[in-house]
Amino acid sequence: MFQTTIQRQVSAEGVGLHTGVQGRLRLTPAPADAGIVFRRSDLDFFRIEARGTNVARVSYATSLMKQGVLLSTTEHLLAAIYSCGIDNIYIDIDAIEVPILDGSAEPFMQMLDEAGTRKLRRKRRYLKVLKPVEVVEDGRRIGIYPADEFRVCCYVDFPHAMVGQQEVQMIVNAESFRSVLSRARTFCFESDIEPLRAMGLIRGGSLENAIVLTKEGVLNGPLRYADEFGRHKALDLIGDLALVGLPLLGRVEARKAGHALHTQLVSSLLADTSAWEITTEDRGGAESPAALEASLASARAAD
Ligand SMILES: [Zn+2]
Repeated sequence: MFQTTIQRQVSAEGVGLHTGVQGRLRLTPAPADAGIVFRRSDLDFFRIEARGTNVARVSYATSLMKQGVLLSTTEHLLAAIYSCGIDNIYIDIDAIEVPILDGSAEPFMQMLDEAGTRKLRRKRRYLKVLKPVEVVEDGRRIGIYPADEFRVCCYVDFPHAMVGQQEVQMIVNAESFRSVLSRARTFCFESDIEPLRAMGLIRGGSLENAIVLTKEGVLNGPLRYADEFGRHKALDLIGDLALVGLPLLGRVEARKAGHALHTQLVSSLLADTSAWEITTEDRGGAESPAALEASLASARAAD
């Protein structure tokens, strides 16, 4: 398997969910081994790599920070990029927050479709999990375990008539992400709106970019799926796992977790270098010389 980037630049504009600031987002092709890199185009393209070491804050959204420069609400865009197997990309933003658009990852999938994928002439490196790493906290837990492909299992339990217990299990790739998770939108409880506003959050929140749950039901239905909440949590989880910095060969199980636990798992995993290895062979098998030659030929054709 070879590394990828996108073929051409694509742009979108929109408001940030928490800051309410209008921003312009542009996705740009990047060379092999660049990784997924945010660049603040309003600050001389200051680079903030999408890696666990740059995680700053994790209440209600994942924020990255490097040398005091902040970039917020990275998870939905990263979920789309990571699931689509884009290894290298520059994400240029002229604001402090990624636009929320419709609250799901669908608009980002449309951008990636428009951008197209390009194979690069360097082998993809995977982070292969060798032994379990777990984080447990007050009835919430998350763990990562050895597996031959990238799998997630995400379980949520909210005491609300429309939510309750929901569970999503899947092998993550572009097709499964598109069909199962990409359209699931972010949500909040109506009773949390005032407290969140008082904390200076959700200034860009509206009925167009978040599902609002009332005491008994949904303020702005219909839902896109009966279990849209569980699906969105799985989307968030994948977006935070992108901060591992390489494609994963491992199975992640999250129970009532959130951004804080997701990013703690990423940090714990990266810190324990005996728990993983970096390999260029996916699915644990060596590539046959014929398969290697075929993919080299197609990489050349794509260039
Ligand atoms: Zn989310």
